[in-house]
Amino acid sequence: VKQQGRNDFAFFRPEMRVRIANLLQLEKHLRHAVDREELKLFYQPQVSLETDRIVGVEALVRWRHPERGLVLPGELIGLAEETRLIFPIGEWVLRQACRQLARWRQVLDPGLRMAVNLSAVQFQQPGLAEMVRSALDDAGLEPQALELEVTESLLMDNASRTVETLTMLKEMGIQLSIDDFGTGYSSLVYLKRFPVGQLKIDRSFVRDILEDSGDAAICTAIIALASYLRLEVVAEGVETPEQLDWLRRSGCDRVQGYLLGRPAPAAEIEAMLARDAEV
Ligand code: C2E
Ligand code: CA
Ligand code: CA
Ligand code: CA
Repeated sequence: VKQQGRNDFAFFRPEMRVRIANLLQLEKHLRHAVDREELKLFYQPQVSLETDRIVGVEALVRWRHPERGLVLPGELIGLAEETRLIFPIGEWVLRQACRQLARWRQVLDPGLRMAVNLSAVQFQQPGLAEMVRSALDDAGLEPQALELEVTESLLMDNASRTVETLTMLKEMGIQLSIDDFGTGYSSLVYLKRFPVGQLKIDRSFVRDILEDSGDAAICTAIIALASYLRLEVVAEGVETPEQLDWLRRSGCDRVQGYLLGRPAPAAEIEAMLARDAEV
C-alpha cells in the first residue's frame, strides 16, 4: 500500500502542483472580487406557456476576472463553496437581484418574479433567513416576489440549522424552487414539509425529450406530480421549437432556455421585458 501511495504521488505531483497553484491564484482574486465589483448578475427569462409572456427571471452570477475574462459559475461556485467565500458572494447576489427586481416591478411589471440560486453551503451560515429578510426589506420587496432555488439534497438534510432556516423562510412567505428536479434523492416527503412552490425539470431530461421515451416519461411524470400537488413546473434548457411544443402539449407551466433567451445583462433583459409588455 505504501509503495502504491508513493507511486501515485510521484505520478500526480506535477499536475497537482499546477492545479493547486491555479486554484490559489483564483482564490486570491476571488477574495477581492466583490469589493472590486468584478461580479455581475446575468438574468435569464422564464416564459409562461399560458400567456406566452415573461413572468420571471433567474439570476445567474458571472465573474469578470481581470486577466482570465468571464469565469462561468461552474468554476466560480465550486471554489466559492470550498473557501466559504460563497457567504459574501451569495449575499451580494441576493441583494443585487432584489434591487434589480424591485426596479423592474416598479417600471415594467409589478408581478415579475426573481429566482435566486442558493448553495447548500449557504445554509450552514447562521442568519441566512435574516439576511434574506433584510435583502427584501432594503429593496422594498414582498417575499412572494422571490423564489429561492435549492436542490433536493438540501431538503433531505436533517441538520437542525438547515431545517430551522427553511422553516423561517416558510414563515416569511418565501417559495422554494427545486432545481434540477429528479436528479437527486427520490424521496418526496420534503415536498410536504417545506414551502415548495415550483419544480424545475432538469435540462438533462428536456434535451432528448423527443427521441428518448424514458426522458419523455420522466417529464410527463414530473408534470403530473406537480399538477396533483398544485405546484408550478418549470422546464429548463429548452433549445428547440419542438421541445417547446412538446412541453406545451404536456401541460408544463413555464419554460426557460436558449430558445426563449440566453442569460443576459440587465439592460438586455430590460429591453426584452419592455417589448414583452407592449405586444
Ligand atoms: P442552474 O441553476 O441549473 O442554472 C441553469 C444553467 O443552465 C445556467 O448555467 C444557464 O446558463 C444554463 N442554461 C440555460 N438555458 C440553457 C439552454 O437552453 N441550454 C443549455 N445548454 N444551457 C442552458 P450557468 O449560468 O453556467 O450556471 C451554472 C450553475 O451555477 C447553475 O445551474 C447554478 O447551479 C450555479 N449558479 C449560477 N449562479 C449562481 C448563484 O448566484 N449562486 C449559486 N449558489 N449558484 C449559482
Ligand atoms: Ca437554478
Ligand atoms: Ca437547474
Ligand atoms: Ca443544473
